[in-house]
Amino acid sequence: MTDEKPRSHGRIKVQVSLQPRDLMEEPRRVKGAWEARIVTLFPEAFPGVLGLSLTGKALDQGLWRLETLDLRTFGEGKHRNVDDTPAGGGAGMVLRADVVHRALRQASIGVTGERGRWPLVYLSPRGRRFDQAMARDWAAADGVTILCGRFEGVDQRVLDHWGVEEVSLGDFVLTGGEIAAQAMIDATVRLLPNVLGNAASTEEESFSDGLLEHPQYTRPAVWEGREIPAVLMSGHHGEIEKWRRAERERLTQERRPDLWEKRKP
Ligand code: SAH
Repeated sequence: MTDEKPRSHGRIKVQVSLQPRDLMEEPRRVKGAWEARIVTLFPEAFPGVLGLSLTGKALDQGLWRLETLDLRTFGEGKHRNVDDTPAGGGAGMVLRADVVHRALRQASIGVTGERGRWPLVYLSPRGRRFDQAMARDWAAADGVTILCGRFEGVDQRVLDHWGVEEVSLGDFVLTGGEIAAQAMIDATVRLLPNVLGNAASTEEESFSDGLLEHPQYTRPAVWEGREIPAVLMSGHHGEIEKWRRAERERLTQERRPDLWEKRKP
């Protein structure tokens, strides 16, 4: 039951064989590609939006890999039960420690025990809030394993046993971790080398250096009587840079005084 292999959503076949001939034939970029392993009751929710656009193209190209482990297959008994009522009473159901444990054990196969190289995460509104710095850390690792909760959450003992890091998408409560997982993986994958067409575009965007992004404009030059700021049409790159910088600072001060304060030495 527990020896079922994680299902691969990567559409490129990655050879596990280590024969030199295979290594030669395999595109280099596929080897050691960054990997997301998702433990979920709803594997059919993946790749979801991650299968579209730039993240989807990168998945097709093998620039990253996605594995889902169906929590149901680790369930108890004939009905593969995964949850039970909360100890102490109260509403809802809780995912069982033994069931989640079997899934995490399967998910840990072939993964370095060094959490810096491969974070083990439970998505939870109680967790540390996900941000761009965490996306950068994850992108610099070899991969990440993400446990998606459902119902009232997961038995605390299995989280303690594995030393799982709890991470939140924000101060709101979702029905399950799957949407949060996709948001976090999206933010991470776009930071991997060669995923975005224009690599420079991650350097100037919001949060990359503690500032929000400047406003963007494109054709038509006049729309509903509104013009594009003249400086952007001037062709003076120095002036354009100055304007953008000033706008980034203005917007950050106005909208996110918390970020602005943090930037000050
Ligand atoms: N009873 C829990 C909420 C459970 S919501 C509480 O009050 O904290 C069900 C599942 O959705 C959670 O186990 C978690 O995996 C996921 N989830 C809900 N909100 C989330 C958030 N803000 N960030 C990440 N995951 C979340």
